[in-house]
Amino acid sequence: MQKKFKIRKDDLVEIIAGKDKGKRGNILSIDRKKDRVIVSGCNLAKKAMKKQSEQDRGGIAEIEAPLHISNVALVCKKCGPTKVGYKIDGDKKIRVCRKCGDTL
Ligand SMILES: [Zn+2]
Repeated sequence: MQKKFKIRKDDLVEIIAGKDKGKRGNILSIDRKKDRVIVSGCNLAKKAMKKQSEQDRGGIAEIEAPLHISNVALVCKKCGPTKVGYKIDGDKKIRVCRKCGDTL
């Protein structure tokens, strides 16, 4: 059975554990096999860049490192980080905030 993620690409999430707790960003990508997500501007890791040419001194770039999906929570516009619930509307499943019931 395929695992279902409640979080989708471009969702606004808040980091709820680890060094970046409280930071917010959008989901850039999801790795469904490893249960990991990349959140824009969060969990930055330094990465040494290779020299591209003689003039280029190389350097350090900051890139977003993957976070485990359990370390992020979807952000509701009204309540902040929340748990996701589902509502059935006809044949569609709609994501809702479990706190206020708003569509997410
Ligand atoms: Zn809410």
